[in-house]
Amino acid sequence: MRSSSTAKKSRAESRAVRQLEAVRRAVAPLAPPVSSFEASIRSTPFRILVSVLLSARTQDPVTEKAAARLFAMADTPGKMALLSEAEIARLIFPVGFYRTKARHIRAICRELGGGGRVPQTLDGLLRLPGIGRKSANLVLALAFSRAAIAVDTHVFRISRRLGWTVGRTPVEVEKELKGLFPRRKWSEVNQVLVGFGQTICRPIGPRCAECPLERECPSSIVTRNA
Ligand code: SF4
Repeated sequence: MRSSSTAKKSRAESRAVRQLEAVRRAVAPLAPPVSSFEASIRSTPFRILVSVLLSARTQDPVTEKAAARLFAMADTPGKMALLSEAEIARLIFPVGFYRTKARHIRAICRELGGGGRVPQTLDGLLRLPGIGRKSANLVLALAFSRAAIAVDTHVFRISRRLGWTVGRTPVEVEKELKGLFPRRKWSEVNQVLVGFGQTICRPIGPRCAECPLERECPSSIVTRNA
């Protein structure tokens, strides 16, 4: 016989999987910027790594154009290492912190060396300059199809709004989400919730009336004002 805590966990998991799927279906026709961005960078692990680094604190359409300019000049670590920091900065402007990112990109190219192999582990990626936990998890999911959950501002906010998590830090939220969702769903969480955050569950002024979860979300403005 299953214990009550196992049954409760199983119900919570089923509900979260169903809700994620409902959100995915609602967001798909809205073509959020993240879909175009992720489609544009799905190529080599190196290009994904650099694009993810560029995307920090930068809107997806701006990142997409900056990455295209940079890769048109150099699309491998060997070629990119031949560019000066100033050239890289000029190519990626106006992404946020473009000077710092240019420095990190050069350092990464030197670190990867002639072979240019991008690390396939969290620890290996975290050792690269400018790559934090969120970026490393995103690279693992996008470049290597690994089970990983990248907790960015959208994932953090929406997980808490929906009552999936209560953690106060991205690491706590990542751990809770990994406990809630089955492993096969981990890499979907970021992509679905980022698109949702860009279109419906926005940081300010969420469009609860258009949300497929408005009747069951504990943060719904619609049910709260009813
Ligand atoms: S009901 Fe509102 S707050 Fe809740 S998930 Fe939907 S948009 Fe976000």
